[in-house]
Amino acid sequence: SFFFGRTFCFSFVVSTDGVRAMMESALTARDRVGVQDFVLLENFTSEAAFIENLRKRFKENLIYTYIGSVLVSVNPYKELEIYTKNHMERYRGVNFYEVSPHIYAVADNSYRSMRSERKDQCILISGESGAGKTEASKKILQYYAVTCPASEQVQTVKDRLLQSNPVLEAFGNAKTLRNDNSSRFGKYMDIQFDFKGAPVGGHIINYLLEKSRVVHQNHGERNFHIFYQLIEGGEEDLLRRLGLERNPQQYQYLVKGNCPKVSSINDRSDWKVVRKALSVIGFNEDDVEELLNIIASVLHLGNVQYGGEEGNACITSDTQIKYLARLLGVNGAVLTEALTHKKIIAKGEELMSPLNLEQASSARDALSKAVYGRTFTWLVNKINTSLTYKDSYKNFSVIGLLDIYGFEVFQHNSFEQFCINYCNEKLQQLFIELTLKSEQEEYEAEGITWEPVQYFNNKIICDLVEEKFKGIISILDEECLRPGDASDITFLEKLEDIVGGHPHFVTHKLADAKTRKVMGRDEFRLQHYAGEVNYNVNGECVMCMSENKILTQCFDREELSDKKRPDTAATQFKASLAKLMEILMSKEPSYVRCIKPNDSKQAGRFDEVLIRHQVKYLGLMENLRVRRAGFAYRRRYEVFLQRYKSLCPDTWPNWQGKLSEGVAVLVKHLGYKPEEYKLGRSKIFIRFPKTLFATEDALET
Ligand code: ATP
Ligand code: MG
Repeated sequence: SFFFGRTFCFSFVVSTDGVRAMMESALTARDRVGVQDFVLLENFTSEAAFIENLRKRFKENLIYTYIGSVLVSVNPYKELEIYTKNHMERYRGVNFYEVSPHIYAVADNSYRSMRSERKDQCILISGESGAGKTEASKKILQYYAVTCPASEQVQTVKDRLLQSNPVLEAFGNAKTLRNDNSSRFGKYMDIQFDFKGAPVGGHIINYLLEKSRVVHQNHGERNFHIFYQLIEGGEEDLLRRLGLERNPQQYQYLVKGNCPKVSSINDRSDWKVVRKALSVIGFNEDDVEELLNIIASVLHLGNVQYGGEEGNACITSDTQIKYLARLLGVNGAVLTEALTHKKIIAKGEELMSPLNLEQASSARDALSKAVYGRTFTWLVNKINTSLTYKDSYKNFSVIGLLDIYGFEVFQHNSFEQFCINYCNEKLQQLFIELTLKSEQEEYEAEGITWEPVQYFNNKIICDLVEEKFKGIISILDEECLRPGDASDITFLEKLEDIVGGHPHFVTHKLADAKTRKVMGRDEFRLQHYAGEVNYNVNGECVMCMSENKILTQCFDREELSDKKRPDTAATQFKASLAKLMEILMSKEPSYVRCIKPNDSKQAGRFDEVLIRHQVKYLGLMENLRVRRAGFAYRRRYEVFLQRYKSLCPDTWPNWQGKLSEGVAVLVKHLGYKPEEYKLGRSKIFIRFPKTLFATEDALET
């Protein structure tokens, strides 16, 4: 059995040569496939051993491995025959350790805990771009769609849950250098189950859509899929009505990355999929028309060209404005003014002041980003309405799926990376708290003395970012909202003043000579739990101020009037993260850690340097250390007894007395030393893997 497939050295006395030979051949097989739970690694503090184990399994197409109950997954970049209906059945209602590691095991385990303990669950999926987070979340959703009980009404819900994916991906995913189908937003999705365990509804929250992509793409990247789908797949009369040509090269917003076609993507057939999905979700023709009007408008906006003398921008051709006015249902003159002027308040009076060329282009781009961003939010709300559980009996249980960007470090890191990495700090903190807490709780519940674990608590970094008045976000807010001479540089100086002494913060000015060499004068560096990152402050203040001004002016004036100060983007993000943490805290978590094996999207390539980085950023070694700090292995008495009872005449074929006593008799017979194990209320705790391995091997002989 590969049940505990692993490498290890025998320390047990083996009785006969025949048995030894048998065990050695079994060992070779296990040697080949590695251990299926890192907890069973003899040398659990060694990163090299960790990676070697991953490599062995990856080579055998075993992409899943556990760290206790955490699932580590390596993207195979090829279709594996492990997601069939048969596989789903195999994992249904089966204990974690009875079958090989799988995403279905995690899905099933959460489902069963939800059902039996009536406790809401969440599955947190993390990893860098292209590591397989979204695929994992889709596999989980499919598992529930196939295996959960269904009635006719529930079938509609299942369909809608599944179809929400192509829609969100069309509008929120794009081809990037790292992933042809990269999610450019974070997503948290609740799946709601009724008392029979049938999925009856859902709810989605989205985070930080990368709106800058609407107006600019790096070389080799694309805008959001929907633009190309519409242009390639849209019917003739639809395109005519929208005033669009069937050629992405015509549109300024689609040419920046010089990458209109991607070999792995068929925009035309994807268009059909999305149209169908929209109707399954319950969008009627009017909704779809409105939605496409906006998508087309963004393309027209991008083609608005400016000219003009003496620095005052004016629009050179009114073709786009005509389409825009019709498609958006706004007054052309108001729109033109909004695209060429800004509102200022002088001596208590509102005045329109002309923009120069550069200002006008960025006003136009800001409008496009805002329109797209709002449309995305509208889309999510609309999907949520269609997923709302309509039954009056609203007492449902929940499994939440979090598919959110992992820790990011680029050559140039800006506000966006700052938010993403801050989010990861928060999730890490949650992870530490919950893992340690649940370890501790389990020890207590089992009546076993808790042994304190040494670990790095990253709360200090979270505080540095988010603390009221003296955290980085507060300081940014203050600078952004301060009238007068606030700029990126004054922001940096403020940071130096207030958090300059913090052990995890440094700037060019404060750095030692060595660090200074790798830092710009317009950067600050944070020492994250996963490593150090330099953030560039250029444009930070402009960015959080510019958003939505024109849009609100143009489309909903009322909204602006009763608000004193708009929240900055950073504060909004902080608030939404705080809410997310609250949601997650109230649930029992499971973790899926995704790893990308190489940068070339290739099957079979295991790039060790790249993987070592991810093992670090995902905090896997620390995770393992915490999990191994006390006891490597623990199992409920009935499970343990059932598996090993044949090894002892007193427990075979059945133990009649109390389970704990049966286990006590059994392990005594097996020669366990007192320091090697402890007996809790319902479980046996075994300190070292080798103790268990020996028992496993005895089973095989
Ligand atoms: P991003 O952060 O950019 O959204 P991601 O972690 O969500 O990245 P995915 O889109 O899930 O990454 O995966 C990238 C690609 O890797 C997929 O399009 C698919 O081709 C491949 N892939 C991921 N997981 C699997 C899997 N389990 N089996 C086969 N292929 C996979
Ligand atoms: Mg994704």
